[in-house]
Order: sequence, then structure tokens, then C-alpha cells
Amino acid sequence: MKKIEIYDTTLRDGEQAPGAAMSPDSKLEIAIALKNLGVDTIESGFPAASADDASALSKISSEVKGVRIAAFARAKHEDIIVAGTSLKNAENSRITLVMPVSDLHIHTKLGLDHAKAIAMLTSAVKEARNYCAEVEVIAEDATRANLSFLCNITRASIKAGARVLTIADTVGYSTPEDIRNIFNLLQKEVLGIENIMLGIHCHDDLGLATINTLTALAVGAQQAHCTINGLGERAGNAALEEIIMAIKVRVDMFPFMNNINLTKLWPTSRLVSEISKFPISPNKAIVGKNAFAHGAGIHQDGMLKNTNTYQIISPEQVGAPLSHMPITRHSGRKGLSARLCELGIMVSEIQLEQLSLKIKDYFSHTAVLGDVELIKLVDEMIFNK
Ligand code: MN
Repeated sequence: MKKIEIYDTTLRDGEQAPGAAMSPDSKLEIAIALKNLGVDTIESGFPAASADDASALSKISSEVKGVRIAAFARAKHEDIIVAGTSLKNAENSRITLVMPVSDLHIHTKLGLDHAKAIAMLTSAVKEARNYCAEVEVIAEDATRANLSFLCNITRASIKAGARVLTIADTVGYSTPEDIRNIFNLLQKEVLGIENIMLGIHCHDDLGLATINTLTALAVGAQQAHCTINGLGERAGNAALEEIIMAIKVRVDMFPFMNNINLTKLWPTSRLVSEISKFPISPNKAIVGKNAFAHGAGIHQDGMLKNTNTYQIISPEQVGAPLSHMPITRHSGRKGLSARLCELGIMVSEIQLEQLSLKIKDYFSHTAVLGDVELIKLVDEMIFNK
């Protein structure tokens, strides 16, 4: 099986989400959790952006060992110096240079032509290599770039000594077919491409970040950029937990080895949500509070007979609390009986019938019947309170 690397950018691209700013201490806490989760690389910030970013990166570099620490920088002398300095104490480090490659970005943002952009990148990669053995190039907006120029940028990155070239779908514009075409083209056209690692960086503007990432891994990428809970600019980045569980559940389609400790997925997700103050949507894949909850009577009945009927992932697998069957308007008597049993409440068949009728009234004003309310209803029924 092919080995892939997970490059987590929760602390850089994730933190760029408006409102998700984190203190250096919080970043350190997340970096430790990411290390324990088993990611290969932690992109820990954009140190040239602010003194806080630089101080967080230095702290993480000094204190988090046994994992690669990456610093994000533009292809500029002043960014590279700060990145290199902040990474000084890292056991294993990488400078990740972002280089716009679409005409729109090169002309509008940088005011450069193709030749000057290549010269700028070449000198930046060489300079960054003075600080770090490993340099990664992110080809920004690569999915809207002129493809022959993208091939030239890849050739220049290899020649200058970059270790990784990452294709960024910066605005979440791609489809899986586009991704397949780009990777096939690079592999066909660029001599020596096997000497570099290819990476993928996707955004979720069209809800395609996960499938685009998986497609890239299937057609030659060996490294996936992602964030916990999909935290990131606009609609966010590819979600680490979705990529990892798709690989786990559909290993027939995505036969890739990785080092992620699955049972840490849920706790890490909760930690990032708490620190970033970005709540997790209840129906979010893998880590949403309802990801393992079953509300409909038919589903609850099936689950009681065999959990495989309505569950492809068990909550224990990802470190989530055991699957629960909340009592809702759609619950049947079997679900109700099972919940009562779990609460240690014994009722007769007649009482169960009475209770399920009573509960129906209850849902005129609430969506889910909590345990406290359920116990109260049983009390009222049995003791006529
Ligand atoms: Mn991004």
C-alpha cells in the first residue's frame, strides 16, 4: 500500500478563518494534540505576518518534538528570514513557500510576468534551503493556472532543490476530473518529477475539498494538506477527519497507509472547536454530535438488531462517545424501550404504550426528549404525579 503524509494546516490556514485567531499558548496546545494524533507535518503559522505568529512558531519548534514543523512564507527574503529563525529549535523543519501561479494572481497581486515569477521562486527556494533541508512550494491557485506555466514552475522547483510541490485549489474551484488531469499532465510532461513529492491543498467552496484531495492521492499525490474540522478561509479547507475516515472505510478505493491514530480524531476536533470558538455543525461528517445518533424509529429498530444496518463507522473507532438514540418525534417503541433500559427503568408493555402516546404530545413543543424529561414523564405516569 502507498504511504501518504498528512500535512496539517489548522494553525495557519485554519487560523486564517475570520474569527479563529488563537493565542501562542493555545496554538502550542493544538500542536501537541496534532502530534499525538499522528500527523506528519504541522504547519504552525505564518511567522512574518505578526510577532504573535512568530512567537507561537518558536514555542512549538522548541517544545513539540517527533513531528515535522513547517513555517509558511511568501517567496520573499524578509519572510524567509523570519521563517528560518522561528524554526531554529525544531527537530525536523520545513519552510513552505507560497507562490501564486495563475495569471490572475501573478499579474494582479505581484505585477510580474512568467519569467520574473520563475526567477523569484528559484531564488526563494535556494535561500530557504540555507535554513532548512526541506523546502515545499505551494503553487497557489494552480487549478486556474496556465498548465504549461504550471509545468515550468514545477521544473523550476525541482531544479532549485524543493522537496515537495503542492498543487493548491486555492479557491475551491476544481472538480475531481480537473485534479486528475493536472496530476497526469505534470507526471507526463515534467522530467524528474519522481524526485519530488507531490502534494494537494484543497478548499471547500463547492463542497468538493475531500473528494478532490482523495482523487489527487489516487493519481500521484503523496501528501495531503488538511485542517481539523475543515477550519479555514471562507468555506474552509479539506477536513482531516473526512479524508482519514474515507481512506479507512473505503480502503478498496483509497489504499493508502498513514500514521493517524483514529481514536484521537474526536477529542482533537473538540479541542480545536473550543479554542477556535468555531462550533461543529451537528450533522458534520465524523465529528458532528449527530454523526452517530439515530432518530427515526425504523433506524433505531435496525440499530438495536445490528449496528451495521445504519452505521459504517463505529463511534469508538474515532474516539466519540457511544452512539446514542435520542427520543424524537420519529422514535418507535423499541427505541424508547432501549433508552429506558439503558437508564435502568423497567416498565410494563401497557406502560410503554401509554408512555409513547404521552411522548407524542411532548413533541408539539420540542424536538428531542432528553433523559431528564423522559424520567419525569415516567414518574408522572407511574406515580400519577
Ligand atoms: Mn489555503
